[in-house]
Amino acid sequence: MTRVNENYAKLPGSYLFSGIAKKVAAFQAAHPETEIIRLGIGDVTQPLAPAILKAMHQAVDEMGHAETFRGYAPEQGYLFLRDVIAREDFQKRGCDISADEIFISDGAKCDAGNIQELFSLDSVAAVCDPVYPVYLDSNVMAGRTGQYHEDTGKFDGVVYLPCTEANGFLPELPKEPADLIYLCFPNNPTGEAIKKEDLQIWVDYANQNGSVLLFDAAYEAYITEDGIPHSIYECEGAKTCAIELRSFSKKAGFTGTRLGFTVVPKELIRGNASLNAMWARRQGSKYNGAPYIIQRAGEAVYSPEGSRQVEEQIGRYLFNAKTIREGLAAAGYTVYGGVNSPYIWMKTPGNMKSWEFFDHLLENAGIVGTPGAGFGPSGEGFFRLTAFGTYENSLKALERIKKL
Ligand SMILES: *Cc1c(COP(=O)(O)O)cnc(C)c1O
Repeated sequence: MTRVNENYAKLPGSYLFSGIAKKVAAFQAAHPETEIIRLGIGDVTQPLAPAILKAMHQAVDEMGHAETFRGYAPEQGYLFLRDVIAREDFQKRGCDISADEIFISDGAKCDAGNIQELFSLDSVAAVCDPVYPVYLDSNVMAGRTGQYHEDTGKFDGVVYLPCTEANGFLPELPKEPADLIYLCFPNNPTGEAIKKEDLQIWVDYANQNGSVLLFDAAYEAYITEDGIPHSIYECEGAKTCAIELRSFSKKAGFTGTRLGFTVVPKELIRGNASLNAMWARRQGSKYNGAPYIIQRAGEAVYSPEGSRQVEEQIGRYLFNAKTIREGLAAAGYTVYGGVNSPYIWMKTPGNMKSWEFFDHLLENAGIVGTPGAGFGPSGEGFFRLTAFGTYENSLKALERIKKL
């Protein structure tokens, strides 16, 4: 008889967001008159920029003519897109990254999940705690961890890197050996960013220990302060130890359109293997790719018109973040993040547990947020609010919270 991959059974009960959706649906059914404000799910809400739509329409028309029709896209992505990314996202920031180190995909989530396949099953993964769940889940399913413990909220065989109020949400170097180190900055969920000199410490550590850093820069476009690296390759020596994940989702509203890329430098070698050559053989997005129409849409993000429109929308989301963050602080709440990211990480009042505060906020203010504990044990006592809604809703939410 076929035996299933038993590692899937190690994953705890329900996925965070399906648990939230159930609670919200039950509340709405009981209170049909309440207008619920959703500051929970990490998804954008505003339409694609006109310059992006124009490029997509044009690409759609090209697909309708034999002379301009495109079939399977090149495995690594179209050169027109990789070239503009290499120039605008990296070379302009002083990072020596070329088009043949960029792999276009249908999103960073798939790449974040698949990247672990390049490494042996006995590699030890280290993850920030709290963090975006994909890194840990993909390593669990691959069989790189032991069992989950309900009481601690942790898996055996994983190195947790706590990001707490005490360390300013910046993890300390691992005390145990770690091979695959996942870093996400600006961070989801804490909203906090890392300074270049602090990231350099991780790059030096990885080079000394032969570890590989998997740097998720999905929120790079939200960085507003100087001294915060947009790419890990701004750090010296990163090309021999780091892979970077990027996404058009939060930057340009592509959560439903799907486009991302992964940077695997040619200098990144472990044993005799070139990780760049290995990633060229990857599963997943290699076979799905990103469609021509979508890659043209991605190219338009870098046009003068497109980048201006995209930046304007990011500016509006960041203004929502500022409004929520400053409003909550003025009302006496302790808040973090929201300056270089669209996330506000608030401390729950009166030492409430994250899920307790979730219920409190939903039942008394009709607001949906995300319990910090859902992102890892160190997220307990915190709560994530997102700035992806409209300004009106951000203000309305703030007024409701103030009345609690
Ligand atoms: C939203 C998000 C992504 C984006 O994933 P896509 O698959 O490109 O939509 C990646 N990493 C983090 C940390 C995110 O929050």
